[in-house]
Amino acid sequence: MIKYKLICKACTISFDSWFSSSKEYEKLKKFKHLNCHNCHSINVEKTLMAPSVVNSKDKIVSISKDKKTLKIRNKIKEYQKFIKKNFNYVGDNFASEARSIHYNEKKNTKGIYGDATAEELSELKDEGIETEVIPWFNDKEN
Ligand SMILES: [Zn+2]
Repeated sequence: MIKYKLICKACTISFDSWFSSSKEYEKLKKFKHLNCHNCHSINVEKTLMAPSVVNSKDKIVSISKDKKTLKIRNKIKEYQKFIKKNFNYVGDNFASEARSIHYNEKKNTKGIYGDATAEELSELKDEGIETEVIPWFNDKEN
């Protein structure tokens, strides 16, 4: 079961609703079976979730040292710096932390980053939790 926070665009009321899966939500939405508890408008949308960022151990890119790839590498490092500064590192707990943010158990407005397996990512995706996989350099690799 998945709980989504839905918002009615007609009367701007938001309410929680349970679905058996993210696919069920899509289906109900598609066939216009989702409506507002208050005004019965079908103009109902899922609210946006806090961003979650993940890096995957499988996706570390090996980059040679010519100028062009160094430039890309520096860009990634900048991105990495930004994430380190603005996101909470949760290590291997990424999947469970992403869930607590998604289901609102934690009042955490900060994004998180950490490690997740491809399997965990696909489970999160099934639950409607957005993640982003980015290349990641270890500090030692300099
Ligand atoms: Zn409404």
